Amino acid sequence: MKLYSLKMRASAASKHVSGSERIVEAAEVPRSTADLAERGMSHPRGPVDFLNVKIERLQEADILHLDALPVSTVKTKDSREGREAMGAFLRGLEIASPDKVLRVLDAARGMRGAVLLDADTLERLEPDHTRGVRATCMDRERETEEPPCKSKNHYAEALVLATKVAHAPHIIGELCISDDPDYVTGYVSSAAAGYRRITCVKEMGSEDGGRVFLYRGDRAGVRETIDYLERQPVIVSGLKPLNAEAPRPDKWKFLSESLDGLRSQGLYRTLRRMDSAQSAEVLCDGRKRIMLASNHYLDFSSDERVRKAAAFAAEAFGTGSGGSRLTTGNGAWHERLEKALAEFKACESALLFSTGYEANLGTIAALMDKDCVIFSDELNHASIIDGCRLSRARIVVYRHNDMEALAKTLRRTPFERGLIVSDAVFSMDGDILDLPTFVQLSEKHGLLSMVDEAHSTGVIGKNGYGIVEHFNGQARPDVLMGTLSKSLGVEGGFICGRELLIDYLRNKARPFIFSTSMTPATAASSMKALELLRTEPERVLALRDNVRFFCERLTDAGLPAHSETAIVPIAVGDEKRALRVAEELWKRGIVLSAIRYPTVRRGEARLRAALMSSHTKEQLAYAAKTIAAVLKAL
Ligand SMILES: *Cc1c(COP(=O)(O)O)cnc(C)c1O
Repeated sequence: MKLYSLKMRASAASKHVSGSERIVEAAEVPRSTADLAERGMSHPRGPVDFLNVKIERLQEADILHLDALPVSTVKTKDSREGREAMGAFLRGLEIASPDKVLRVLDAARGMRGAVLLDADTLERLEPDHTRGVRATCMDRERETEEPPCKSKNHYAEALVLATKVAHAPHIIGELCISDDPDYVTGYVSSAAAGYRRITCVKEMGSEDGGRVFLYRGDRAGVRETIDYLERQPVIVSGLKPLNAEAPRPDKWKFLSESLDGLRSQGLYRTLRRMDSAQSAEVLCDGRKRIMLASNHYLDFSSDERVRKAAAFAAEAFGTGSGGSRLTTGNGAWHERLEKALAEFKACESALLFSTGYEANLGTIAALMDKDCVIFSDELNHASIIDGCRLSRARIVVYRHNDMEALAKTLRRTPFERGLIVSDAVFSMDGDILDLPTFVQLSEKHGLLSMVDEAHSTGVIGKNGYGIVEHFNGQARPDVLMGTLSKSLGVEGGFICGRELLIDYLRNKARPFIFSTSMTPATAASSMKALELLRTEPERVLALRDNVRFFCERLTDAGLPAHSETAIVPIAVGDEKRALRVAEELWKRGIVLSAIRYPTVRRGEARLRAALMSSHTKEQLAYAAKTIAAVLKAL
């Protein structure tokens, strides 16, 4: 390989204007010569009188190959900060008077070469103080076929020079401020510190600039240093593009900032650990507490027969189902439970999902698409909201449980195909959907109707069968969603409806298709809980009696309360106050949730008491009295 050194110099009125150099292969010499000439001719300092490109053959054996110094960036907002960064670098080199060195740098203005400065005595060692010492005969390793770069790449050229200088004998460091008026960035470099870009070291438009090489050693070495700097050919490899080294913002920062925001608004959430089965009373944080926050309204989770059903299924069929229902995960337990659920809800067919959340998400997203409209109650559960969003349908939110508002919205909104969806019992306030009107409106407008029975199954209706029974079978939604995780005390979700609907969902609902089906123990224990719900309606009656009793006690204590479901809301308002109240109740042995934004609207925080069929009257009387007292005190 034949390598040539190309050096360009341009001057005007005998004054230096610009200079540049390259080391290239023979074949690249003509093109590079033209590039360099163009650069010399187009320098921002103005017209050129004299331009010279010197072309010299190099011997490959003489060339020193170096890896580029590692690069870092110090962001400075003005020249003062920039000089401070340079001072810090000098102190790192154990230089006694950094300020004096910086003054030498200032005085170097207009010099072609660099000051060669004894770092300790501050004596100038360059033989010609006007010219200075020049580091030349170097280039970065060039790719063959590299497209010509006409504009000056300050960064790459400076890094090549700094790399060569940092390896010079007796040189311990370098300082540089460009004299280019359009360029305010400077750098400091050494073999140990690498190449440290300082983003601002001078004012824009200033032609101040200079270069200082810091020498440490006795005078005998000076000749060797200058020879290396001016004559040793060096090729530097491993330069990375500047943006690759720029310090990137901390990729985790937005998480901690977001959490700090939640903390400051009283919206930060933490976990509380329960150390016993979920029942009317639980063990947590070392003591027994009255549980007024569980969704297990009928306390099936702690029922021995339900637990035995889970244990039996796990013993007989193992712990996992091994796949989605459509692959290997379909067992007799799943099919039997679906059949029982369809019968329980008096529908043609049913489909299981691993959670209620997935049932809503998967069903709504499968039924609706971007050309549809979904009418959704403003207090619908998050899983409904997420399903609507995932479907990409247009979402029209109507006022909470306001059928007149819904009717008006329906008249006003044009659509071809759509869905109205609502909680049957609203999860935070425990109020009940006006199902007959809801279904009537959907029929009138040719919309599918969908109702989420998470909090109605096992709670409302004469026998706890849910919202259809509650309205004496007058009305029936097209899509009935329910959970196994609330009253039934286990885990899972389901959809009931006509076989056509279920067949469609089996083929289209992605959480059904792509998620492992529920475990045999889950299906078997749900099946047992469902059987007990049907054979022992007294649990439903006990729950209803408890709610009536609890509301009476609250009302007696000055907190008027009413609920037809298992959920008794107690308004608080401010998020932080709601948290403090829940915290105080916790201290007094009551577990009760503070419901805050985004679950409910901002400023409408509340306590949500959830009752169970197994609470005793003593527990409820104590809880009502304590809640009233704490609310009064805080
Ligand atoms: C809890 C709940 C769900 C989600 O059910 P999971 O089984 O907990 O996933 C859906 N809708 C409503 C109204 C709920 O309260």
